Amino acid sequence: MSNSPIQQQVDKRRTFAIISHPDAGKTTITEKVLLFGQALQKAGTVKGRGSGQHAKSDWMEMEKERGISVTTSVMQFPFNNRLVNLLDTPGHEDFSEDTYRTLTAVDSCLMVIDAAKGVEDRTRKLMEVTRLRDTPIVTFMNKLDRDIRDPMELLDEVENELNMMCAPISWPIGCGKEFKGVYHIHRDETILYQTGQGHTIQELRTVKGLDNPELDDAVGEELAAQLRDELELVLGASNEFDLEMFLQGELTPVFFGTALGNFGVDHMLDGLTEWAPAPQPRATDAREVVANEEKFTGFVFKIQANMDPKHRDRIAFMRICSGKYSKGMKMRHVRSGKDVSISDAVTFMAGDRSHAEEAFPGDIIGLHNHGTIQIGDTFTQGEVLKFTGIPNFAPEMFRRIRLRDPLKQKQLLKGLVQLSEEGAVQVFRPLNTNDLIVGAVGVLQFDVVVARLKSEYKVEAIYEPISVATARWVECEDGKKLDEFQRKVSTNLALDGGDNLTYIAPTMVNLNLAIERYPDVTFRKTREH
Ligand code: GDP
Repeated sequence: MSNSPIQQQVDKRRTFAIISHPDAGKTTITEKVLLFGQALQKAGTVKGRGSGQHAKSDWMEMEKERGISVTTSVMQFPFNNRLVNLLDTPGHEDFSEDTYRTLTAVDSCLMVIDAAKGVEDRTRKLMEVTRLRDTPIVTFMNKLDRDIRDPMELLDEVENELNMMCAPISWPIGCGKEFKGVYHIHRDETILYQTGQGHTIQELRTVKGLDNPELDDAVGEELAAQLRDELELVLGASNEFDLEMFLQGELTPVFFGTALGNFGVDHMLDGLTEWAPAPQPRATDAREVVANEEKFTGFVFKIQANMDPKHRDRIAFMRICSGKYSKGMKMRHVRSGKDVSISDAVTFMAGDRSHAEEAFPGDIIGLHNHGTIQIGDTFTQGEVLKFTGIPNFAPEMFRRIRLRDPLKQKQLLKGLVQLSEEGAVQVFRPLNTNDLIVGAVGVLQFDVVVARLKSEYKVEAIYEPISVATARWVECEDGKKLDEFQRKVSTNLALDGGDNLTYIAPTMVNLNLAIERYPDVTFRKTREH
């Protein structure tokens, strides 16, 4: 099987997402990556407000108003004989559960860190999600054209806070106004930085070897001496790159550069396309599915609604796990047991939506539907199995939702349950009250819900604050203990949109006490579909 047509396509694919804290440079680096992928003639239009490029992805009114993209998109481009799929991860106000779930659909991640700031909060959270699958991480230390923190200290911080060893692949020479470039440890050459070249692919000026006197001429004697000293220290104290450890998620190769100056991004891309894994095997409830299997399988990790408000259609984003999609093929929608003929799946070449003739493992395709497809759904060519590891994540923000017209309570509940099936928010119904609580991991989702309830379900709803800090799905194998737990803490219990029992904690202290007090009850931060 090793040289089958499917295997050849699998070997070429690299599917990754970017994790970072807002403003670390994810959008900028995406632009440069696409520039290298020659997807865009000139970088600079990924987030450009009001530009023609942006208008294409304006699927919802709200996106236009806020000038941001509400949902994740997918970009495919060629690089170094590979075909790279970059899954965008909403990061600012548009941060949502989709951001988390996208990380379950990739084979590797690029972590972008603002080198002036170091490891920040959002990055920590996203790294927690990548840990669920031990996803390999490539690191880019960004903004070297600014005054940054001591590079050695940055590596220490990644190692200590994210619990992952660092293997520097390049090392910076100066920073801020004095930024001269990087020494590429694996290539034993210095690549010199030129300012004002951020929008083009630069002609490289390089100096071979560390002891080359040309290096002193190029960066100045002082910085050259400092580089040699630092490297001696770094190479002694840090780890060498180890492919196996990288693939296990235990070690990250680290690159330095500036996305804005388009410097170092290419080194990172070289490393990522060479080392990051091809589409990986995936667990199901029946067996492990390997990418080079002849038969098609895939799972849905995201639903995008209102691509075209006139048609009320939805697009289900499906990650292909094995086999080949070809236009018009029949697939089994395992949950419903129905066979469907797919003739109009969408692919994502460089942010543009186009119709797919074929697609392979690692690729994302979009399936049009009217609400029949849910997050976590598996598609096959007849085999009955279900991919696992596409969970719901516990919300971090909560509001009570109330109707302006109380007669429409049923409509409201129906709307909320359907919207929660799309996965952007979750709805909770406390056992002891008639409240409805909406939970989300990003604040924008609250507005999206109210807007969609109005346009699609004709109900006008408003929010009220509620003091809830977090939620956990609860389970207990011992029925008696579960009963007792339910009796004692009933005021804190609710059912989610899928009728799963949930503990609603007013404070983290309260949650921790409950966990301590009921050791037989499992409190989960994620829940499988
Ligand atoms: P995102 O929020 O992670 O997508 O970050 P952006 O890519 O939008 O960048 C946030 C800000 O940092 C913008 O003003 C960028 O121009 C700026 N920025 C990004 N990369 C660099 C860099 O390498 N150097 C400098 N000086 N600024 C950068």
